[in-house]
Amino acid sequence: MYVVMVASECAPVAKVGGLADVVFGLSRELEIRGHSVEIILPKYDCMRHDQVWGLHVIEPDLSVPWDGGAISCAVWFGFVHGRKCFFIEPRSWQAFFDRGTYYGFPDDAERFAFFSKAALEFLLKANKRPAVIHTHDWHTALLPVLLFEIYASAGLAEQRVCHTIHNFRHQGVSGPEILRATGLNRPDYFGSPDRMGDDLDRHAINFTRGAILYSNFITTVSPHHAWEVRHTELGCGLGNALHQHRQKFGGILNGLDYEMWNPEIDPHIPQHFSAATVEKKTVNAGPLRERMALRTGARPIVGYVGRLDTQKGLHLIRHTLFYALENEAQFVLLGSGSEHGINEDFWHLKRHLNDNPDCHLEIGYDEDLAHLIYAGADLLIMPSLYEPCGLSQMIALRYGAVPIVRAVGGLKDTVFDWDYSERPRELRNGFVFDHPDHHGIDSALSRAFGLWRNEPQLFRELIVQGMTYDYSWRDPAEHYLNVYEFIRHR
Ligand code: ADP
Repeated sequence: MYVVMVASECAPVAKVGGLADVVFGLSRELEIRGHSVEIILPKYDCMRHDQVWGLHVIEPDLSVPWDGGAISCAVWFGFVHGRKCFFIEPRSWQAFFDRGTYYGFPDDAERFAFFSKAALEFLLKANKRPAVIHTHDWHTALLPVLLFEIYASAGLAEQRVCHTIHNFRHQGVSGPEILRATGLNRPDYFGSPDRMGDDLDRHAINFTRGAILYSNFITTVSPHHAWEVRHTELGCGLGNALHQHRQKFGGILNGLDYEMWNPEIDPHIPQHFSAATVEKKTVNAGPLRERMALRTGARPIVGYVGRLDTQKGLHLIRHTLFYALENEAQFVLLGSGSEHGINEDFWHLKRHLNDNPDCHLEIGYDEDLAHLIYAGADLLIMPSLYEPCGLSQMIALRYGAVPIVRAVGGLKDTVFDWDYSERPRELRNGFVFDHPDHHGIDSALSRAFGLWRNEPQLFRELIVQGMTYDYSWRDPAEHYLNVYEFIRHR
């Protein structure tokens, strides 16, 4: 099958978050299975040009109708670690993608609405007729609307769209002038609440609403999150729309890049290991303790690797630190936040505990250290308040760090409690708690510490069971292919 991904990010050439990993990982897996995949991205001035091979212009003058006139774009082609990528470079005074950074401008909605339109214009003019166009998040949510309202009659009538929502908190909201700019026009029609009218602002156009209405299929990044966004406030106002379109909505778990995250060959860790040689994992605790200035001794190491954001359950992360110190365990944290206040709090905590030989906080982003923590820690906490999918718990499982997670979103789909899961014992792989309070996480931590101390043989079994789970792209790609097959025949 011929699939075109249209997205604002793709790892590693233009990466801000997990969206970039999904676009790259899914595309690679589909190609491994013999499908043909092309990726269309904006040509950002700040993208990692060193990650593109053979970048050259293939279309010097793609004219994209815009705001009553037209903007000329150059289209570039290059390979990103084997993936075929097209980059759209508009040449206009707005300098849409020449801003030194990816997001965060007052005209973001316009920038990405333009990109969505340019991607369709490129497919049309370059005579590309994919069976499926896969769009991602709010940035490209207007594409299905433009496809069916404008481009279907121009020559793209057979194309079907699968739209994936990675994050419901950002939906792409703009004033009605975007309708004129894109050529959709008809503000009364498109701005009505049952089309693209925003729930909170009556006069605004909500891109993601448009994607829900016009796409042939909508997915989010885990089955449980798909339930949450329909039935709880996590849908951020889109629950009703998703309920109406439930027959074309579902959750597909993200995959993990098993080439990058493989403890058998990982160049970042001192001792390689696998499920068959799990006893070697403990060797990594030594260098981790050394790196984090912790004392040696028979204490379990609890780790946290992730953003320092309220979403991640910061009060429970902090609580775990003190719980570990009171219960003869050690705690290591690697994280950084985008909010000044949060970073300050953790810097304060770090200074306060500076001389403690059983804990260490590293505030910042450090890829090497992240690998060492997953490899050296016995347990890894993820007490998130919400978590659409979550990658850290999957990495922890693969690296034999038993995850302790809150039962939300993708965490609930991937971690199964050692004591209480309904799954057979041999399929359990971690510790899970429900309520985001001290009582909830204490009970999980005390069960984990108890097993580590009193039943080392069983703890080892738990590690091995976690390591044998397959959270690679293999199954998710199969699910996406089923969706593609389903929509292309409708
Ligand atoms: P989110 O996408 O909400 O940030 P995920 O669990 O899906 O959370 O993905 C987080 C990814 O980013 C993991 O691969 C994790 O190891 C990595 N990561 C997060 N913070 C850091 C950090 N400070 N240093 C190194 N890696 C980090």
